[in-house]
Amino acid sequence: MSRRKLIIGNWKMNNGPMEAHQFLHDLEDELKNEKIAKDVDFAIAAPFVALPFMIGHSHEEGKEAFYLPLAAQNFHYEEKGAFTGEISLDMLDQLGLEYLIIGHSERRQLFNETDEIVNKKLLAALKTQMTPVLAFGETESEFDANKTETVIKNQLTSSLKSVKENEMEKIVLAYEPIWAIGTGKTASPEQAQKAVAFARTVVAELFNSDIADKVIIQYGGSVKPENVKELMGQKDIDGALVGGASLDAKSFAKLITFDKQK
Ligand code: PEP
Repeated sequence: MSRRKLIIGNWKMNNGPMEAHQFLHDLEDELKNEKIAKDVDFAIAAPFVALPFMIGHSHEEGKEAFYLPLAAQNFHYEEKGAFTGEISLDMLDQLGLEYLIIGHSERRQLFNETDEIVNKKLLAALKTQMTPVLAFGETESEFDANKTETVIKNQLTSSLKSVKENEMEKIVLAYEPIWAIGTGKTASPEQAQKAVAFARTVVAELFNSDIADKVIIQYGGSVKPENVKELMGQKDIDGALVGGASLDAKSFAKLITFDKQK
């Protein structure tokens, strides 16, 4: 089964409208002489305030508009109402976003998002045209205690509750061991492959093996230009969710053209 690769940069609380504007210019320059492979998709999950400035961005007259698909880092599962400071799915849909990150460990750990909230967000996201990217993964102490597979199974089972088979085909999964996020400690390609392959078996149990074969499962955790190619070379790893190394256009360009590396 050959699946597409999907590289998503998660800017977190970095890069406002001005930096985003510069990033687009720089990325366009970086990619001038570099073709992105046909089976590689990519996107940037920018802060809400930067997103409107990044849509359909075209710089120089007469130059082909550079299209950068966009993602949201967060949203509220309710449609509208008295939720001061929150952003609805409809608002994001109006911006023409393509992906929605759900269940990132920073949202789980710093903003108390439980599996139940993650599930509500996922079910709400499935009513839109945008593709949910569901993140999951174990903490360092769970990893040390050999509980990676138990955590993956529990998180996927509760986050994917009430998801129908035809809806699962729309979902992207992102295995992100928490101990590897923003720490510079990357899971070895073998560790990442093992955990991602296990997640695929969980999808097969919860849905069926056909869906499990098709689902795109990314790896996230200190992915950078120096390690991306080896990680992407693993049989079950279909892309990356990248924080730090996506902030700079040169580095992001290297990530999305990983297949060109010698
Ligand atoms: C992330 O934010 O999902 C992430 C993996 O961050 P980093 O690449 O910086 O570890």
